[in-house]
Amino acid sequence: MARCIVPEAEAYLDQEIKVLDHGFVRLVDYMGGDNRIVQTARVSYGEGTKTVREDAGLIDYLMRHQHTSPFEHVILELHCKMPIFVARQWIRHRTARLNEISGRYSVMESEFYVPKLDQVSYQSTDNKQGRSSDEVPVELRQKVIDLLRQEQGSAYASYQELINDGVARELARINLPLSLYTQWYWQMDLHNLFHFIKLRADNHAQWEIRQYAEAIGTLAEAVAPLAYASFKRHVLEGKRFSADELAALRELMNGKPNPLSGRRLKEFEEKLAPNE
Ligand SMILES: Cc1cc2nc3c(=O)[nH]c(=O)nc-3n(C[C@H](O)[C@H](O)[C@H](O)COP(=O)(O)OP(=O)(O)OC[C@H]3O[C@@H](n4cnc5c(N)ncnc54)[C@H](O)[C@@H]3O)c2cc1C
Repeated sequence: MARCIVPEAEAYLDQEIKVLDHGFVRLVDYMGGDNRIVQTARVSYGEGTKTVREDAGLIDYLMRHQHTSPFEHVILELHCKMPIFVARQWIRHRTARLNEISGRYSVMESEFYVPKLDQVSYQSTDNKQGRSSDEVPVELRQKVIDLLRQEQGSAYASYQELINDGVARELARINLPLSLYTQWYWQMDLHNLFHFIKLRADNHAQWEIRQYAEAIGTLAEAVAPLAYASFKRHVLEGKRFSADELAALRELMNGKPNPLSGRRLKEFEEKLAPNE
């Protein structure tokens, strides 16, 4: 098996999955798939793959036991377009290979992220990095959108003026806001991609990057459906318990009171709640 061709992934090649108002994720290329994972795990030729059931069992075993290296043999190459504030969070995932559009070389397009009205939220009081679910009056929502649009327009007008005056692009751009869209080619192996999705599709991550993580999840599932199913079962929708939490679980199973309290209890209860 010199090259894995995965029909579901082929269907996604060069198709943009739209994200937010101007963004997208596009599968440029991929290497490997479920077959490559079992082939590398068995260190064998194509014959290493057996029945789908046996392959699924092996992949699930590898995922359950964190035998991660076979997953690193599957690679996704993506073209992504996202607001700069999303890129700032995204780039913290260091195991990628990427190349971003240069604002020193190119004139940046006038494309800015404006949230939809229903995304305008108050600051959460219990999660310092999150949004509150309290209802925001429609006038305030509209005010936020209007202010964002107005300031984006003004920043871009100044940028264009400086560009027209012949000022260096690398300087003209420095007041452009974080809502400006950027683009990159981004390549990652499936093991690290799963880690990215686990962290960024989580409801603790900012809503905007979650939309990208979900789109990337769709592509990862197309490339390696058995691996994605195991990832979903054991990692994405699974939970990790500390020794204290396991002790609490044992106490509860024996009909005793929960020894956890305060914030630890709240986090424990969140883990036990059904996935959203
Ligand atoms: C909800 C949320 C909130 C966050 N808030 C903040 C914040 O307020 N401020 C902030 O600065 N960051 C924040 N982060 C970023 C976070 O701390 C991580 O930097 C980011 O999620 C990348 O995780 P990672 O290092 O595991 O991933 P990757 O960089 O993709 O690395 C994957 C794994 O490879 C290994 N690895 C990679 N590079 C190295 C290395 N050089 N040395 C050793 N091991 C390595 C580690 O095991 C790592 O887990 C936040 C992330 C999330 C999900």
